[in-house]
Amino acid sequence: MSERPKPELTACAADEDLRGPYDKETADAVAAILRRIGESPEREGLQRTPQRVARALEYMTRGYRQDVDEILNGALFTLEYDEMVIVKDIDFYSLCEHHMLPFFGKCHIAYLPSRHVIGLSKLPKIVDAFSRRLQIQERLTCQIAETIQKKIKPKGVAVVIEAQHLCMMMRGCEKQNAWAITSSLLGRFRRDARTRAEFLELIRPGRGRSGT
Ligand code: ZN
Repeated sequence: MSERPKPELTACAADEDLRGPYDKETADAVAAILRRIGESPEREGLQRTPQRVARALEYMTRGYRQDVDEILNGALFTLEYDEMVIVKDIDFYSLCEHHMLPFFGKCHIAYLPSRHVIGLSKLPKIVDAFSRRLQIQERLTCQIAETIQKKIKPKGVAVVIEAQHLCMMMRGCEKQNAWAITSSLLGRFRRDARTRAEFLELIRPGRGRSGT
């Protein structure tokens, strides 16, 4: 029997996380947590974990340091276009504020312009700015809708978020296949059942992609 070469251990791209500065206080707190759960932060695999976690946390909460006005700077246009604008299936990752565990899924955004439109690529950036914080799904949904409402005063805004919460999957009720769905409907999407139905039809899974 020939001896197989040992596979190299390069799990989770750990070295990527070792570049750049990190917050020492956060790293110290992580080391304390490691001790409290019965681990040893000195053992080889954990030696640099506190600083990795500190950097990862900073990245995952970078929305606190983002300014929506700056994101939208130069991306608001005046245009006579009054059909529904939809960007669907925007991936997002957030942390629930109750457990600091990830929740993640898809965000769908629609609005009915009233003289102003937002550059399409900016909508995912708005989602990012609000999701990269400690959040609850309901607030995240409303903040996205209200920001669009405030910035371009459209005739209506609709935001739907479908998400899975690790705090429900790994602990608590341990429901692996539950999706939480939240929506925020403003203006015509709230008032007019036909507009709402058109939006819900367009965000149905599989709609709007090639071949459908
Ligand atoms: Zn939670």
